[in-house]
Amino acid sequence: MLFGALEAGGTKMVCAIGNENGEILEQVKFPTEIPETTMPQIFEYFKGKDIKALGIACFGPIDLIKESPTYGSITSTPKKGWSGYNIVNAAKEALGIPVGFDTDVNGSLLGEVTWGCAKGLSDAIYLTIGTGVGGGVISNGKLLHGMLHPEVGHIRLPFAKNDPGKSVCPFHDNCFEGLAAGPSIQARWGKPAVELADKPEVWEIESEYIATALMSYALILSPKKIILGGGVMHQEQLFSLVRKKFKELVNGYILTKEMDDLDNYIVPASLNDNQGIMGAIKLAIDACE
Ligand code: ADP
Ligand code: ZN
Repeated sequence: MLFGALEAGGTKMVCAIGNENGEILEQVKFPTEIPETTMPQIFEYFKGKDIKALGIACFGPIDLIKESPTYGSITSTPKKGWSGYNIVNAAKEALGIPVGFDTDVNGSLLGEVTWGCAKGLSDAIYLTIGTGVGGGVISNGKLLHGMLHPEVGHIRLPFAKNDPGKSVCPFHDNCFEGLAAGPSIQARWGKPAVELADKPEVWEIESEYIATALMSYALILSPKKIILGGGVMHQEQLFSLVRKKFKELVNGYILTKEMDDLDNYIVPASLNDNQGIMGAIKLAIDACE
């Protein structure tokens, strides 16, 4: 059986055809322009592919409340043309099949809990640290939505000691995203993060912010695994630094087998950067049920 998957991002749209085992059979990408230009290309691609359903893992904020009159739309994005666009209704109309819908980060998490390093876990978090910071949460076996969906990238963090920078978030003067996403690193040090690999002071501060945020997530959401993805996490030295600082911050307070094995608790994404599109396949599978 074939399923369509769309990972809708602010810069590119990844479209794939997959099967019930999460195998990606083919994949194409389109640049994200305005909906009137981009979406017809996507629908044209999926037409005639004999897919049972489409799963959309979408950049946000989005309306996920099934009872809402605007369910399926992108809400307050600054991305030109997309604010108020109902991507679910448009897909249903163009393709005439069931459409599953969730955030991009819940999509990545769903990929990891279905086919990746968090397979079978009822409680886990997927965090992306890239152009922004965002996170998906599964709790008691269900992806967390709530009044909107979690926005774990905008929690308030104390300034790190010796941080010469400042928050670049237009909404908050010291939130996680504003202090630790890729653009913040670039603003603080005057160079893109990828060119700062050999500067220990960069990763000291970065890991302090990440570990501090993870401590809050661990305490509030009690995840059994924390998966870290996104461009900034390609700096692999961050993992050991984050685990070390996380351990110091928890300071022996949580006594679980996970805390004794942080190498398997705070982990990189495991699906070769396909976690998002694979999660979208699972959203399509679930939409059929
Ligand atoms: P997006 O968040 O837009 O989906 P990415 O997850 O690739 O995309 O994140 C892009 C950000 O990650 C940029 O700010 C970039 O500077 C940073 N980045 C990308 N690759 C690396 C790398 N290898 N090391 C450190 N930072 C990186
Ligand atoms: Zn913020």
